[in-house]
Amino acid sequence: MNRRFFLRCSLAFASTPIFSKSVFAAEPPVCFSITGAMEQGSLALGQAPPGSLVALDGRPLDVTKDGRFVFGFAYNQTTPSQIAVRYPEGGGDSRSFTPAKRQYDIQRIDGLPQNTVTPPKDVQERIAQESATIYLARFTNTPGTDFLSGFDWPAPGIESGVFGSQRIDNGTPMSPHMGVDMAAPTGTPIHAPADGIVTVSADHYVNGGFTLIAHGQGVATSYLHQSKRLVKEGDAVKRGQMIGHIGRTGRATGPHLHWEMNWFQVKLDPALATKKPKPDSL
Ligand SMILES: [Zn+2]
Repeated sequence: MNRRFFLRCSLAFASTPIFSKSVFAAEPPVCFSITGAMEQGSLALGQAPPGSLVALDGRPLDVTKDGRFVFGFAYNQTTPSQIAVRYPEGGGDSRSFTPAKRQYDIQRIDGLPQNTVTPPKDVQERIAQESATIYLARFTNTPGTDFLSGFDWPAPGIESGVFGSQRIDNGTPMSPHMGVDMAAPTGTPIHAPADGIVTVSADHYVNGGFTLIAHGQGVATSYLHQSKRLVKEGDAVKRGQMIGHIGRTGRATGPHLHWEMNWFQVKLDPALATKKPKPDSL
């Protein structure tokens, strides 16, 4: 190892409080770091020496010029994610990271419009098309690194639904709730939590007024049930910019923002990626 590499390695290592004692105590220091909540459904930020190549479970990840990269742990992931890094001067390291297991709630919701819980046949094709639009948009790998600045809460409100809970809607078991719900009156402004590019803005049957914002390297956030959308596909939005209004469109019993975060198709808990305390309710 030459001196320059050693210095870089030390710098990278020194800036990473994340190497937790339990996992790494017995292992030699490595020259890359991963930070984040390190729980199921959390976003993980990586730092490697500039010029490194990085792979997650054998597949290459995008790495910024200064060595930053990102990935996500699935909400039900129990197996490790393996990160392998090849350093620019040669050599490399590989480590496995297993997210901490979470305990998810069961939430019963009654009073939903029944045609949104068991949609009539004639709208099923529309719903499938809207899901496909979102699915494809979440493959978008915009070049920016807006996710590196962290995320603000996009709206005030009472947190009326948490990530990962098993939902029983009008008595029908549904897939787990993959977002955070913030209940607030219709018309309450929603602000972009970070800079990004709008990749979908449309009125959907189940999602209601829907907006998807890409923040770089597959990290995206979405906003559901809006009464009004203020941005359109292709718009570049700035942190704090008003992007829409809270509403109760689509599958909703009352006005609230359903806020989601993804890393490509991996659904993440936005509450684990916000950098400020949760705002007060109105
Ligand atoms: Zn929700």
